[in-house]
Amino acid sequence: MIEPLLCVKNLHAEIEGKAILNGINLEVKAGEIHAIMGPNGAGKSTLSSVITGHDGYDITQGELIFEGKDISEDTPEERAHKGVFMSFQYPIEIPGITVNNFLRVAVNENRKARGQKALSTTELLNRIKSVAQLLNVDMSFLSRYLNQGFSGGEKKRNEILQMLMLEPKLAILDETDSGLDIDALKLVAEGVHAFKSDENGIVLITHYQRLLNYIKPDYIHVLSKGKIVKTGDASLALELEKKGYDWLS
Ligand code: ADP
Ligand code: MG
Repeated sequence: MIEPLLCVKNLHAEIEGKAILNGINLEVKAGEIHAIMGPNGAGKSTLSSVITGHDGYDITQGELIFEGKDISEDTPEERAHKGVFMSFQYPIEIPGITVNNFLRVAVNENRKARGQKALSTTELLNRIKSVAQLLNVDMSFLSRYLNQGFSGGEKKRNEILQMLMLEPKLAILDETDSGLDIDALKLVAEGVHAFKSDENGIVLITHYQRLLNYIKPDYIHVLSKGKIVKTGDASLALELEKKGYDWLS
């Protein structure tokens, strides 16, 4: 049996005393793409925050296991170094830091934490170039200041670049944004396809079925009122598109 990368067991969490997650069970193995769908307010973003360790909520029950170890007490940085990546990880604008510099520092910090040798400037540049090429990202984008004046599409591009550069074991992409245009959706899809391997897992959170026209998940879970109320294969997305979410809750 392959040990799952991520194992969420009967997870309950609350924000400011209000119960948001009410017993989530989820197992993600290497090589799998899981989509989490569900109506607004179901707890999708909360679940991703709880997995990555962002503050503001309390786990009141259950377990959060990554590669066999409980990570619920780890800081977000510790989880990132273990290989958990989440989009919107660094949403802040950092004046004076270019995308390029940020990626270089982030990659080597990550390698250091994993006990790997730092990449040289040339190695880093080559990596960045090949990832940028893969995503059709103009090199001039790399000299922009991180997140400064980024459009929605550019933020997305930056996130996907980060994901491919950092090579996490588990990538959680929270596509909350209803305003993503087709180009941005395609970029996310290209990034996911380029990233996916037998070694890593992907959790794709999305309110809309649209994104799943471009990415075929192995499993779809519907979250409603803080619980997974249905799990199915990719065909479930089409059913949801037709019937909405109401029949499930
Ligand atoms: P989704 O991503 O599925 O739309 P969220 O996880 O963002 O849902 O939110 C789930 C519930 O938690 C909602 O009822 C929302 O109002 C509540 N919630 C989220 N963040 C906070 C917060 N910081 N303070 C209070 N309530 C919150
Ligand atoms: Mg959300």
